[in-house]
Amino acid sequence: MAIRFATVRDAVGGTQMTPHLLQTLDLPSLQNLVVEWGLPKFRAQQIRSWIVENRAESFDDMANLPKALRGQLAEKAQLWTTQIAKHTTAADGTEKLLLQLHDGGRIECVLLRDGDRRTICISSQVGCAMGCVFCASGLDGVDRNLTVGEIIEQMLRLQRLLPVGERLSHIVVMGMGEPLANIDRLLPALDFASAEDGLGISHRRITISTVGLPPAIRRLADRDSRYHLAVSLHAPDDELRNQIVPTNKKVGIQAILEAADHYFDVSGRRLTFEYVLLAELNDRPEHAHRLAKLLRGRPALLNIIPYNPVAGLPYRTPSKEAQHEFRAILENAGLTVKFRQRKGDKINAACGQLRRNTPENLVQISG
Ligand code: SAH
Repeated sequence: MAIRFATVRDAVGGTQMTPHLLQTLDLPSLQNLVVEWGLPKFRAQQIRSWIVENRAESFDDMANLPKALRGQLAEKAQLWTTQIAKHTTAADGTEKLLLQLHDGGRIECVLLRDGDRRTICISSQVGCAMGCVFCASGLDGVDRNLTVGEIIEQMLRLQRLLPVGERLSHIVVMGMGEPLANIDRLLPALDFASAEDGLGISHRRITISTVGLPPAIRRLADRDSRYHLAVSLHAPDDELRNQIVPTNKKVGIQAILEAADHYFDVSGRRLTFEYVLLAELNDRPEHAHRLAKLLRGRPALLNIIPYNPVAGLPYRTPSKEAQHEFRAILENAGLTVKFRQRKGDKINAACGQLRRNTPENLVQISG
């Protein structure tokens, strides 16, 4: 597994690019940078609060910095390295951004409004190497890992869609990519999200969704951060999971459950298991019975997601009756089950779909 991930290209340094400021947004790093530029240390805090609290669009917005300094900063560093290639809004308030990266790669991120909740869904990689057969994100494989700055940039761009005074309340890392295959960049970005002087979103309101990579789950457990972990199971046994989630052949459900149990033991955080319901593939009563047996006794939530069809793929959403029957079997077996509501599906708000449905020659760049 590790060897495969080592071949994933990391962010290109960018020979002619000026540094991405969001890459060094934590105060000590930003202080080092401004001192390196020959500026007094206190400028770091000013710049940071302009970006994080005041949602500045550019260095020019930073009104309490001398004008000459704002000009200098714009020459020395970039605030944004992505461009908004497409911005879609659904009737239910869901907004989705297709971001074009500096090297042409494209990723998606989403803002969901639900009561008081302002949840964002962010990507961790360009594409995905896991190859789940039903998912749009992995159809072309993985291109590269996102940088810390690119992950933070999604958070800040989505935050800017909210009116002043409204804050982000939850983050789910359920966009494109396998977050635990890019854990070294993801964790510093989430640390920014959870820090009091960052976005101030508590750990338990930040969910990392993973296909299930046991060594990375253990690494996460051995860290103090207590993010909520969701494991994408999608099948009750290895034979079926190998078909739906090909990367399972190298791992196996047992090893994933052991690592997940360890995460629960160490963190005390109740786990979530995700199960995408695919008509006639993993939605039969026998699957529900086996799933109940597999998860019985675990203090976990089972999150069932009726499949959101992807153009060109042969998979279908199960009928309402099949969904009800599946749910009833699990509930009768004593499991805590939740069906995930579909939000924003009219705007292709499910993983990797907007990117596929937006041909490159139709992209309109703004912002
Ligand atoms: N790589 C991570 C994040 C993937 S996206 C993981 O595997 O968990 C978050 C969830 O959405 C995963 O459970 C994923 O399997 C699911 N998903 C992907 N495409 C979907 C689709 N078209 N319909 C419904 N769920 C989908």
